[in-house]
Amino acid sequence: MRCPFCGCSDSKVLETRLADDGYSVRRRRECTECQNRFTTYEKTDDLPLLVVKKDGRREQFKQYKILDGMIKACEKRAVPLDELEKTVAEIEKKLKNDSLKREVSTTEIGELVMEHLKGLDEVAYVRFASVYREFKDINTFIKEIERLLKGKEEL
Ligand SMILES: [Zn+2]
Repeated sequence: MRCPFCGCSDSKVLETRLADDGYSVRRRRECTECQNRFTTYEKTDDLPLLVVKKDGRREQFKQYKILDGMIKACEKRAVPLDELEKTVAEIEKKLKNDSLKREVSTTEIGELVMEHLKGLDEVAYVRFASVYREFKDINTFIKEIERLLKGKEEL
């Protein structure tokens, strides 16, 4: 685990204890290089991540379902498949790290996918957003495009 302050890969553990959720171990570390202190959490990867659908039903998180949606959005676009696979893996990792409750909503997932697609391919992003946000009419669609262009100007 690299030190978040200086990037050094060596740290010593000052304290180890079970986190409040009971599912992870919390370690207080000190960087051997810059002496800054930081905390890491370690947890088992075996617990399933549950996806809560809009109607309240729950199902196990499946990478291929997200990948499938992204592939559709990227049809005929120059986005390599391994780039999409990497993105899905990143999204899963993020969801697992963030949700101690082990449940995520389809909304959360959709937002994350959009966030990533935006950086990969704008057309794919708009396509995905149009399905995901269920654009009702052309005006909502145009608004989304405008938002996208506006965001670009601000960069
Ligand atoms: Zn350091």
